[in-house]
Amino acid sequence: MRQCLTNPESGYYINKDPFGTKGDFITSPEISQMFGELVAIWCTTEWIAQRRPQRIRLIELGPGRGTLMRDMLKAFQSFAPFKNTIVDICLVEASPTLRTTQHSTLCDSATTETEDGFSSVTRYGIPIKWYINLKEVPRDVTSFIIAHEFFDALPIHQFEHTQNGWREIMIDYSVPQVKTAVSLPGQTRSFDEDPKFHLTVLPYYTASSKVGPESSPRYKNLPVKSKIEISPESWDIAKELALRISEQRTPKAPTGSGAALVIDYGPAETIPVDTLRAIKGHHFVSPFEEPGTADLSADVDFTALKLVAEQEGHVAVHGAVEQGEWLHALGIGARATVLASQQSTPEGKDRIAREYHRLVERSGGAMGKIYKVMAFTPRGTPTSVGFGGGVIDRGDDEVE
Ligand code: SAH
Repeated sequence: MRQCLTNPESGYYINKDPFGTKGDFITSPEISQMFGELVAIWCTTEWIAQRRPQRIRLIELGPGRGTLMRDMLKAFQSFAPFKNTIVDICLVEASPTLRTTQHSTLCDSATTETEDGFSSVTRYGIPIKWYINLKEVPRDVTSFIIAHEFFDALPIHQFEHTQNGWREIMIDYSVPQVKTAVSLPGQTRSFDEDPKFHLTVLPYYTASSKVGPESSPRYKNLPVKSKIEISPESWDIAKELALRISEQRTPKAPTGSGAALVIDYGPAETIPVDTLRAIKGHHFVSPFEEPGTADLSADVDFTALKLVAEQEGHVAVHGAVEQGEWLHALGIGARATVLASQQSTPEGKDRIAREYHRLVERSGGAMGKIYKVMAFTPRGTPTSVGFGGGVIDRGDDEVE
């Protein structure tokens, strides 16, 4: 998955822009501005609940075309007290092509190459920087971190519980069929097919099969024949998000400051099984055909992220809840009504209605149920908006 998606020469994301109706798939921020607006409202409510930290860094993991960040920044213009605390924006992006697209979506000024990445200034005058890895992003101020459809792109391992213990499922290839069976002296045998890749259960153990399934009671006690998928890289990043929040301690915020919002597809509670998939031109294709030309992804194991974040980072974890539920709690109904009333044509009103349904409906290929939302906030902070909590203003009178 790592090589197919982000190999610097031939990775899927490296040389192309895969989004939109003409691309391979479409994401919520590309469907409607409402999505970014509501994510911005969530950040603002969380900032108020955390007694308005005065220096904020916005971090986005895998920002695609930069559409979500653009819509968020536009929405923040209506919340001046929050907007004025943003010291910079840090985008974590592996693809030079998408970095260029993000730059043109968000900035007018040129990009400069710095020691640790690239930097520019957004149209709203906020400094913006690009990094390849979250670990390189500075940790000096409170971060609000967004990961939309990022975790599903991270590599997974698959395992099967056999009579002999856990075994890793790996990728093998079959020897191609030879069409010309007879090879005469002086003639080279011609193979008319590329090797065919397929999954296979290894008959012996690997380092990963010794460590991965043993790492949690969730896996250890599963019966023979069970299959599981795990993504240690996702755990590592979830831990990093939690640590970034919990380490920003001040007298005003004794358990930390900041928040992370993860939106992606996957089960809220169960362990993903056999979910590796490839998408090309809005259709599922075999993940093993023409590697590097299709988007590869796997379901996000939200419970695994929650366990890592709670354990290592001492944060409060909210959700996962369904995207439709979360968007409704944030006010998508009211926003859609306002946007529709501003449309002068019936087609315009219909478009808003279609976008709204696509984001919130639970069936018919819509995104309301399949996609989940999870948030990390400092330990002891109130239940977050969208996850059962209301807007809580704890004031800012304790600001030093
Ligand atoms: N959030 C965007 C894009 C989702 S696609 C949206 O919802 O529209 C996944 C994004 O993550 C792309 O920008 C891709 O280039 C980036 N990406 C994938 N794997 C990555 C990795 N390992 N490190 C950094 N960025 C990565």
